[in-house]
Amino acid sequence: MTDLRDLYQELILDHYKRPRNRRRMEPVDRHAEGYNPLCGDRINVYLKMTDGVVRDVSFEGSGCAISTASASLMTEALKGKTVEETRDLFSRFHRLLTTEQSANQEPDLGKLEAFAGVRQFPVRVKCATLAWHTLKAALEQQHETVTTE
Ligand code: ZN
Repeated sequence: MTDLRDLYQELILDHYKRPRNRRRMEPVDRHAEGYNPLCGDRINVYLKMTDGVVRDVSFEGSGCAISTASASLMTEALKGKTVEETRDLFSRFHRLLTTEQSANQEPDLGKLEAFAGVRQFPVRVKCATLAWHTLKAALEQQHETVTTE
């Protein structure tokens, strides 16, 4: 278990230090802005959609290691997914972060499971889900800044 936890920490650190898909996207089909006042994390999420499928996704922002790594891993997980699959992934990711492990039978989230340990730190759950809440706002075309409060 220790090895696995170290591996997860390494993955999070790697995505924090070298975030994937961190760039402004122009032109863009969908965009939303998110803010987590508890930690000070800020993020912009950009989406390119064709026929209800995420063709490209990127983010910009400044935040802690957890929020940045989560945004980076999220962008990797979403390319090619339909809106429906994206919503499903978000609810499973949210469950991973908020439900006891024993009750979580089917996470099947690949690299996103690296965030399972965040469950023990409720304040950090908001950091880990900020990018996802912002993504959801972008999909629903909300134009107000999303906050985790
Ligand atoms: Zn944070």
